[in-house]
Amino acid sequence: MNEVHHHDVIIVGSGMVGLSLALALRNCGLNIALIDDHSAAHSLAGLRTNMKNATFDSRVSALTPASCAFLQALGVWLPLQDLRVCPYQHMVVWDADGTGSIDFHAADLHADWLGVIAENSLVSAVLAQALYDAATVKIYQPETLIALTKVTQAEGNYNNILTLESGTSLHCKLVIGADGGTSKIRTLAGFETREWNYDQQAIVTTVTTTLPHQLTARQRFMPTGPLAFLPLMVAGDTSQQYCSIVWSCAPALAGRLLALDDAEFAQQLEQAFESKLGKIQAVATRQAFPLRQLHALNYVNAGVALVGDAAHTIHPLAGQGVNLGFADAEALAAILKHAVARKEDFASLQILSRYQRQRKPANLGMMVAMEGFKRIFASDNLSLRWLRNSGLNAVNHLSPLKQQIMRIAMGLK
Ligand SMILES: Cc1cc2nc3c(=O)[nH]c(=O)nc-3n(C[C@H](O)[C@H](O)[C@H](O)COP(=O)(O)OP(=O)(O)OC[C@H]3O[C@@H](n4cnc5c(N)ncnc54)[C@H](O)[C@@H]3O)c2cc1C
Repeated sequence: MNEVHHHDVIIVGSGMVGLSLALALRNCGLNIALIDDHSAAHSLAGLRTNMKNATFDSRVSALTPASCAFLQALGVWLPLQDLRVCPYQHMVVWDADGTGSIDFHAADLHADWLGVIAENSLVSAVLAQALYDAATVKIYQPETLIALTKVTQAEGNYNNILTLESGTSLHCKLVIGADGGTSKIRTLAGFETREWNYDQQAIVTTVTTTLPHQLTARQRFMPTGPLAFLPLMVAGDTSQQYCSIVWSCAPALAGRLLALDDAEFAQQLEQAFESKLGKIQAVATRQAFPLRQLHALNYVNAGVALVGDAAHTIHPLAGQGVNLGFADAEALAAILKHAVARKEDFASLQILSRYQRQRKPANLGMMVAMEGFKRIFASDNLSLRWLRNSGLNAVNHLSPLKQQIMRIAMGLK
């Protein structure tokens, strides 16, 4: 016979956002469960071996100081630092098609760094380890959610029945979709979305360059899409020659670039990057991800909430996706804990709407800004090209506006 279990809150998805939310809620007095269709995150021991070999995860995230502060509040910032992150102090963005450029220095804001580049597998591993250590959250893994049934209060003291592929039924008051850009919870709960298909893919890999990155994140905007070089560092490394790259372009070009051998790819990459870091000496395995931008019109229903990429998927050019997701997790956890402390119905639409009111304007603002950025840089219209080049240069010399942009990008305002 199939099993039935009851929980107050079930989080579907143990990506970085779902894990952080589960950790933030671990001691709030609610009975929490987490489901994911993958096996447990990489073990810390296995990751340490990779690090000795200077092997990097090809998936990295530029984390803002606000996200680092959240990780610190969760108690995982020091373990993450202990594993490996690369702080960056400087960021340069320039237009391939003209003379426009803008650069940001941490010193302009009297800060030590603008953010850190962290490998996704390491962030997940320290969050998962802290969650296993806490042992207060029930973890169903690997388990795939296949159905969601809403129930009325008359039928039971819960709002949702979740069915897992194994046949297990889970009853809960609140289900939280942290199940990524193709969220099943979002579809099953009937949330409408607005989507922009970019018809672009992002190629990611790790490269070794002859010149040091000097703790600088660089991004070149080409008419075909942006190319980013993000600095990486191994312990005791003074050469600063490892970078993670994100090269966004149309699927046809991505296909051609993926089909090249390493030497040919390195040559194309070097050319596309204007040899800013000298020669590309080595290229690790390449991976490609389809890109799209998506925003759920609502993040909440009675008994259901969406966080992270399940609520909003954004182009990686600004490196904001998981930062917005961490801000969602932090906000939702605070609202739920407050409701529990006041003995309010934490799964009610009234309480959950507080979360939507807090997060939707911030997420939407960032998405609109990124969409504008992407369109302006993709255009070959002459006046737009002139405008974006002179605009970039003008902003670069306008300290107050530049500082404001930096603060928003760092999640400080
Ligand atoms: C190339 C690229 C570069 C990026 N760079 C940056 C960056 O520099 N900075 C930044 O902030 N963001 C960046 N992002 C965005 C960032 O990676 C995402 O925003 C983030 O990973 C989303 O995390 P999440 O936890 O919301 O979702 P996910 O990581 O997608 O996790 C969802 C989880 O749910 C599980 N799941 C899905 N369906 C089910 C189901 N039915 N049952 C059970 N489990 C399920 C999945 O297996 C997965 O583990 C980048 C994205 C790309 C593509």
